Amino acid sequence: MCSEDKGRAYKGHVLAFPYPSQGHINPMLQFSKRLASKGLRATLAITKFISTSMNPRPSALVHLDTISDGHDEGGFSQAESIHSYLSRLESAGSETLSDLILKYKETDHPVDCIIYDSFLPWALDVAKKFDLLGAVFFTQSCTVDYIYYLIHHGLLKLPIPSFPVTIPGLPSLELRDMPSFIYVAGSYPAYFEMVLHQFLNADKADQVLVNTFYKLEAEVVDTMSKACPLMTIGPTIPSIYLDKRVEDDSDYGLHLFDLDSSDITTWLETQPPRSVVYVSFGSMATLSNEQMEELAWGLHGSGQPFLWVVKASEDSKIPEKFKREITAERALLVRWSRQLEVLSSDRIGCFFSHCGWNSTIEALSIGLPMVAMPQWTDQTTDAKLVEDVWEVGVRVRVGEDGIVKREEIERCVREVMESERGKVMAENATKWKELAVEAVSEGGTTDNNINAFVTEIVLKRS
Ligand code: UDP
Repeated sequence: MCSEDKGRAYKGHVLAFPYPSQGHINPMLQFSKRLASKGLRATLAITKFISTSMNPRPSALVHLDTISDGHDEGGFSQAESIHSYLSRLESAGSETLSDLILKYKETDHPVDCIIYDSFLPWALDVAKKFDLLGAVFFTQSCTVDYIYYLIHHGLLKLPIPSFPVTIPGLPSLELRDMPSFIYVAGSYPAYFEMVLHQFLNADKADQVLVNTFYKLEAEVVDTMSKACPLMTIGPTIPSIYLDKRVEDDSDYGLHLFDLDSSDITTWLETQPPRSVVYVSFGSMATLSNEQMEELAWGLHGSGQPFLWVVKASEDSKIPEKFKREITAERALLVRWSRQLEVLSSDRIGCFFSHCGWNSTIEALSIGLPMVAMPQWTDQTTDAKLVEDVWEVGVRVRVGEDGIVKREEIERCVREVMESERGKVMAENATKWKELAVEAVSEGGTTDNNINAFVTEIVLKRS
């Protein structure tokens, strides 16, 4: 928690309110640190469940406070369904967010602006009730945001009659490149509704913030901005990995999973430079038993050392024979890592990823080539961009039975690690890293946008 700062003069106070999952907390926490480094007081509102169960200690810069999602004892796992969780989050969240604003009203630092997750559009009503600025924060790529924008506004009608589909501002998209809620018709209707509802009232928000950087998605940023003006404020990566300006942020700092006790750094040091494949499917994806088995043997067959994050809930899917065969020299399996620290190690040569947006933009900002094995939601579209637009990776081909076979996994790893095309991917990744650094450095597009946003908040106060 933030150290006591009584009497400190802040230019304004922002309250950041993420959707309570790892991939949403990380970018908002990091953005809050950026704002704090520019003289604002920043408070991150997390759920009571996360606050009590995770013992978070995010940063010396960002204050923590709590709201309720209506499931204070068990969080999401306590809910009967996605739909019921989202509806409790809205009712309990609105009420407790209002309480928080009222609490700060009585202090030296009343809230000036709520930065709310685009998955929680009702937070704008709370901001407006108290006459505060409301800034909506999109945690996914601008490409994906724009697809949902078009569908929400009836400008892209479902079902899409034929593929590939050509949409101004976007690359040509096949069905499998679409976000999975479209691709697998009828899957997760509550989540699909939620991602479309991001645009229910975005036009009424005082600012639309997107976690990307201008040159990464220039065409779609320009196209979408004509209909829905937005600010690119990414990548929200701890600045130590970019321009080294904010001192206390070597990690995001709020892990919802227990960090593995293995000494990852020491293990990495035993490996040759650029030799290790880092494998992670993020916080939410689960693979079938068969897929885990194929993945295990595919990684084994690739001949490369690998560091694989296998969440506790996935561990039983790993074949015993595989566990017996791999040696400590060749492979390290961990429950959860400090991913950015791992990605920035010079021992890592490739990120084998599910292409969650944070993982994708982290890899791009650190300059790593990827094997893309998307699972669901926006990951399929991110994988398309990784392979065909930014040309920093190869996407696995899924078999007719829906399984990516071990030979395919092995082929993709070898392609990134050993082929001439792989070298080009690594060079392209370095180029994107340089552009990410440029965006967040003084005078860069992201830095300018953040300064403009801070000015807006300061003006609101005066
Ligand atoms: N992450 C981590 N340790 C791990 C795996 C993931 O710190 O072992 C972090 C990763 O750096 C990223 C986030 O968890 O910031 C996952 O977000 P992403 O959007 O990639 O995937 P999601 O979990 O939302 O599917």
